[in-house]
Amino acid sequence: MSPRLLIAGFVLLLLVAPHLVSEFHVTLLNYIGLYSIVAVGLVLLTGVGGLMSFGQAAFVGLGGYATAYLTTATSLPAWLAMFGGSPWMGLLAGIILTATVALLLGLLTLRLSGHYLPLGTIAWSISLYFLFGNLEFLGGHTGIAGIPALDLFGLPLKDSRKFYYLIWVVVLLAVWLTINLLDSREGRAIRALKGGAIMAEAMGVDTARSKLVIFLIAALFGCISGWLYAHLQRFVNPTPFSLNMSIEYLFMAVLGGAAHVWGAVLGAGVITVLKQWLQDWLPKLLGASGNFEMIVFGLLMIFVLQRARDGLWPILARWVPWQGAQRRVAEAAALPRKSLPEAGTVLLEARNVVKRFGGLVANNNMNLSVRAGEIMALIGPNGAGKSTMFNCVSGVDRATDGEVLFCGRAVTRLDSREIARLGMSRTFQHVRLLPTMSVLENAAIGAHMRGSKGVIQALLHLERTEERQLLVEAARQVERVGLGGSMFEAAGSLALGQQRTLEIARALCADPCLLLLDEPAAGLRYMEKQALAELLRKLRGEGMGILLVEHDMDFVMGLADRVVVMEFGEKIAEGLPEEVQRNPAVIEAYLGGVE
Ligand code: ADP
Ligand code: MG
Repeated sequence: MSPRLLIAGFVLLLLVAPHLVSEFHVTLLNYIGLYSIVAVGLVLLTGVGGLMSFGQAAFVGLGGYATAYLTTATSLPAWLAMFGGSPWMGLLAGIILTATVALLLGLLTLRLSGHYLPLGTIAWSISLYFLFGNLEFLGGHTGIAGIPALDLFGLPLKDSRKFYYLIWVVVLLAVWLTINLLDSREGRAIRALKGGAIMAEAMGVDTARSKLVIFLIAALFGCISGWLYAHLQRFVNPTPFSLNMSIEYLFMAVLGGAAHVWGAVLGAGVITVLKQWLQDWLPKLLGASGNFEMIVFGLLMIFVLQRARDGLWPILARWVPWQGAQRRVAEAAALPRKSLPEAGTVLLEARNVVKRFGGLVANNNMNLSVRAGEIMALIGPNGAGKSTMFNCVSGVDRATDGEVLFCGRAVTRLDSREIARLGMSRTFQHVRLLPTMSVLENAAIGAHMRGSKGVIQALLHLERTEERQLLVEAARQVERVGLGGSMFEAAGSLALGQQRTLEIARALCADPCLLLLDEPAAGLRYMEKQALAELLRKLRGEGMGILLVEHDMDFVMGLADRVVVMEFGEKIAEGLPEEVQRNPAVIEAYLGGVE
C-alpha cells in the first residue's frame, strides 16, 4: 500500500468520524487534535532536533491568553486597540508575541549546551504559569471567560462538531508542513543537529540557526493550539498551561515515536484515550477515588518506553504493508560550479601552528602548505598530531597559536562553517555520518551551501527544483566514489571503509577547491584503494588541492606529490615521497617499526 493511500484513508476516517460517534467522543477527538498540534512541534524539536523543551504548554498558554484577553477586554491600551475584538487578530497577536518570546528565549538558551535548555524551559514554564495566575487583567487564577466563538467565513463554530473540522485541518497542515520541512535541504540540516552538529558545521550548516528555527516552529504550533483551545472552550485559566502539561506533551511526542511526525498524532491519541480510560475505570476497580490514574499512567509510561524506546509509531508501521518510498533520483540541471584556482596557486598555508590540550602539545610550530593541483600527504605515527592539525586548519578546533591562511585569507579565528564557505571541505577520521539517513541524503548534506532556499520555501515545498538539483549532485558524487549501488541504503549499514568513502562523496558535494581527507583508505580492500587513488588523481588533474592523512605507506608513496612527516606534534621531514622515504629520521620514527 502506498503511504498516500493510507493518508487518504485516514483523512476519510477523520471526515466521517464526527457523524459516527457521540458528542463526548467528538470532544475527545478535539482534544487529541489540539494536543497533536503541540506534539508535532515537539517531534520536530525534541525527537528530530534533540532539543528538550519543558515549556511547550507555556507557548500554548501564550496563544490562548493572547486571544482571550484581546477578544474580551472592554478597553485596550491604544497600541493594542488594533488587535482587539476579533479572534483572527487575536491569533495574529499571539503569533507575534510567541515568536518574539521564543526568539529571545532561544537566543538565550540554545547556544548553551547540555542542561541549559531543559532548565531554561522549565524556568520559563513555571514563571509564565505564575504570571498568568497573578496578572489581574488576565483574570488571575479564575481566568478569562466569555471568549467569543470563532467565525469561519460567516459560519460560527459554536459546537464541538463544527470545531472538530477546523482543529483537524490544522493538525493535518502542521503534519504536512513538518514533513515537508524535514524532507528538504533545511530539513537535512535539522536532522543533523542530533549527533552530527560538528559535521554539519563543517559542511557549512549554521546549526545555531537551525536550532532556533525548530524552537520557533514548535513554539508557534503551541501558540496556534492554544488559540484554538481558547475559542473551543471559550474560557481559559492557567491550569492547562502548567509544567505538568508540558511534561505530558513530551510524553506524547516520545511515546508516539519521537522522530516520526505521524507518531505525534498517535502519541496524543494514545495518551488522551488512556488517561480518560484510567479516569473512568480506576475508581471503579479500586473502589476509591484519588489520583491513582496518575500513578498508573506513570508506570505505564515507564513500561512502554522500556519496551519500545523508539515509541509506538515504528511498531505500528511494521504492521502496515508499506510500499517503499520511491527509489529514484529525478532529473535536474547541474548545479553551477566554482572555478578552481590555477594549478600551483597556494591554497592553504599553516604558519607555526601550535595546539595545546592542557599540558600536551599536540601540534608544535607546524608549517605546511598545499597548492592547487597537488596531493600533499601528512604522515606520522599514531598520536603524532595529524588529525589535530586537520581540525586546526579546518576550523573544527582552534589553534592555540600560529596562523592559517586559506586562499590568501587569514582563517585562524573563523568557524568551520565560514571556512567551508571559502571552499575547504573535509572528511573525518572517525566517520561522522547520520547512520539512519540514506547514503544519498548523507552526501546531500555536503551540498548544503550550494542551495539557498530557506525554511519558508521548505515548509511549503516551493524549493523542489533546487532540491532536485542538490540530490542529483549528491547522486553524482555517490556514483563517482563507487557507492551508486547503495544509494538508498541507510549509511549506517555500510562497511566502515565504504562509510569513509561516503564521507568523500559528501565533501565533494560542497564543490571544494581544497579537500582534506583524514585516513580515507583505512578499512578499504586493495581494489577499493586502487579506485580511491584513481579518483584522487582525477581530482588533482582537475585542479583540486588535496591534503591527505594516511597510514598506508604504499598508498601514499604512489600518490602524493609531496609529503610532510610528523612525530610528537612536530614536523620532522618534508619533501618528495622518495626523499622522505630515505630520510633517516623518518625511518627511525615512523618506518623503523614497520620495515
Ligand atoms: P593522529 O591523528 O596523528 O593520530 P591526533 O591529532 O589525533 O593524532 O592526536 C595527537 C595527540 O593529541 C594525541 O596524544 C591525542 O591524545 C591528543 N588529543 C587529540 N585530541 C585531543 C583532545 N580533544 N583533547 C585532549 N587531547 C587530545
Ligand atoms: Mg588521526
